[in-house]
Amino acid sequence: MSSDQRDTIETICPYCGVGCGIKISQGDERGDVRFRPWGNAPVNEGRICIKGGAATEVVDHEDRLTDPLIRDDGEFREATWEEAYEYVVSELERIRDQYGPDAMGFFGSSKTMNEENYLLQKLARRYGTNNVDNCTRMCHASTVWALRTSLGAGAMTNSMADLREECDLFWIQGANPGEQHPIANSQYFRQAVLDGATVIQVDPHANKTTRSFEIDDTDRHQHLQLNPGTDIPLLNIVLKTILEHHEDRPEDGWIDETFVEERTDGFDDLQETLEGFDNEAAAEECGVPLEEIELAAEKYAEADNAAIFTGMGMSQHRCGVDNVQNEINLALITGNLGRPGTGVNPLRGQNNVQGTCDVGAMPNVLPGYQLVDDDEARERVEDVWGFEIPDEPGLTNVEISHEFGNSVHGLYVVGENPVMSEPDANQVAERIKDLEFLVVQDIFLTETAAYADVVLPATSWAERDGTVTNTDRRVQRMRGVEKVHENTKHDLEILSEIGSRLFDGDESGSTESQAVPGGGFAFDDPESVFEELREVCPIYHGMSYDALGTEGLHWPCYVPGDEGDPYLYAEEFETESGLGRIEGVSHTLPAETPDDEYPLILTTARVEEHYNTGTMSRRSPTLERQVPENVVDIHPADAERYGVEDGDEVTLSSRRGEIEVVAQVTEDTKEGVVWTTPHFAAASANRLTNDVLDDKAKIPEYKAAAAEIEVD
Ligand code: SF4
Repeated sequence: MSSDQRDTIETICPYCGVGCGIKISQGDERGDVRFRPWGNAPVNEGRICIKGGAATEVVDHEDRLTDPLIRDDGEFREATWEEAYEYVVSELERIRDQYGPDAMGFFGSSKTMNEENYLLQKLARRYGTNNVDNCTRMCHASTVWALRTSLGAGAMTNSMADLREECDLFWIQGANPGEQHPIANSQYFRQAVLDGATVIQVDPHANKTTRSFEIDDTDRHQHLQLNPGTDIPLLNIVLKTILEHHEDRPEDGWIDETFVEERTDGFDDLQETLEGFDNEAAAEECGVPLEEIELAAEKYAEADNAAIFTGMGMSQHRCGVDNVQNEINLALITGNLGRPGTGVNPLRGQNNVQGTCDVGAMPNVLPGYQLVDDDEARERVEDVWGFEIPDEPGLTNVEISHEFGNSVHGLYVVGENPVMSEPDANQVAERIKDLEFLVVQDIFLTETAAYADVVLPATSWAERDGTVTNTDRRVQRMRGVEKVHENTKHDLEILSEIGSRLFDGDESGSTESQAVPGGGFAFDDPESVFEELREVCPIYHGMSYDALGTEGLHWPCYVPGDEGDPYLYAEEFETESGLGRIEGVSHTLPAETPDDEYPLILTTARVEEHYNTGTMSRRSPTLERQVPENVVDIHPADAERYGVEDGDEVTLSSRRGEIEVVAQVTEDTKEGVVWTTPHFAAASANRLTNDVLDDKAKIPEYKAAAAEIEVD
């Protein structure tokens, strides 16, 4: 077959949560997997960013794992699958028998699909623990918590398409779609802006989002460049400005009184919280002129349809839940929810981070966000699975890693890289050595896999079938080409085999293939897993592989034939009372603030060309060429103070470690604030970040730490 005659397969880009459709084709040789544009793909209509275009480069990378590895006398040796399975199963049994099921932790990943994460969390629960979590703990756990508690669902309230058509004002706080969600930014948000929409960006760092909208035109767009960790005071100024204006001029309708009265609860609490609030002092703390914040408040309140976009600049703080609650407060008092073009919309970072949460790979919820400590919900799932589910929420990712060698003795990692992705990473690398058993399932020997007792070689995104759920709740099919390395296995195959060896044949399990719902782990294919998933996950219940077709479907999709909802809460919120919950919040300072020893504030972010811990993007020649090393952004005034010149190699340090990076002297960052990224192993920001947690959602405070800089 000549190259231009090759069949192409429609699938989804493996990187960010936008969920762009791409095509891939299989060449004459196994492993010759090529990117092809998909002209009328449902989300991106053929457009693609640099990461999506380069995604196939890693599929046949020379570093791919090709055979199982077992550690013997400190060194890895190749093993057969039979040896590897026997070892994993016997160690899982030993740890459960010796210490009990809560001595194991299970980490799912947003690089893997709904079916795979579903099976992993079912495996953990069948094992007897709710110690199962995924990388959303590092990115949007606080957002999910606040949205679920106050509105009903931990997801974008609206969809990208309705925002493009109907939104008049985009309030983008702590998110950088110009860099992290390039196609959403260019195709949806920018299109709305060209049609007249306004952008208010709230971010300590000027970035590609700032530049893509030319946010220097204060008559229309604004960039409020606040100090890291001051999002609550800034939003409190906005809220108080709106409340005070409404008292003087209720006829302007800045507060939607009918909406507040009929559809919300807690307005009094917000008023009380803001009673003695001092706007001028707060503006000073934020480092933004008060009149700029008041102008932004006016624009938001005056817009017919205003939508809030929220990202990790908001969620990755020890007050992450409160940060997002304040965004919810703003949307609720102005009636900007339950209609097209409005809402509170988390932009999810990874291709399946939404779905990984949806299918229950979290310690406190079962598939469909049903709480593990809700007896009725648990019993509904138990009826399908046929075994008892532990009724107490388990430990989160970071809590599990804090317990390595204490209460946690074993860890099963699928597609994650906690040695780089968790805060205070030097300590994680030390503590992981205290585990008695570590199994890692991945496509490369990651920084975490290097510590493993067993490494199971999985297939890549381009070789597997299944579904993923993008940032606006659209569930889409992914399809794979032939396996690149014969002796690798799909994640689903591996989990199914381990689950079957551990449990099938027990009275609660079955060795029969689970083409229909049941308690076992033997499945013929991803579709049969999806069929079981929809039985226990009400928001997916109306879906099937056939119904997903090419376009996919938004959840909630409760019954077959539902089209899925592009925006939520048209009639009522999905809280117990049906009301949206308003709750006033007060400022919590970052756990570390600058002092004589560490006089700067360190904040972190990602760049367009790389993806999280870089296991894939650092192996992509195109992406590596564009951004080959880590940098630190430093303001010119600080550069002069510390004798740093543009391009200098510097040591950036915090109380937890130091990294060597190249200085970029730029006004993109504020005076007193240095900015760097987590993508590069030897110089990852996470060697410096603080592992203090939000007390509700247990998300770490990646976005603010005290730091110092020295020229090497
Ligand atoms: Fe992939 Fe996101 Fe780029 Fe789309 S915007 S091509 S999903 S990385």
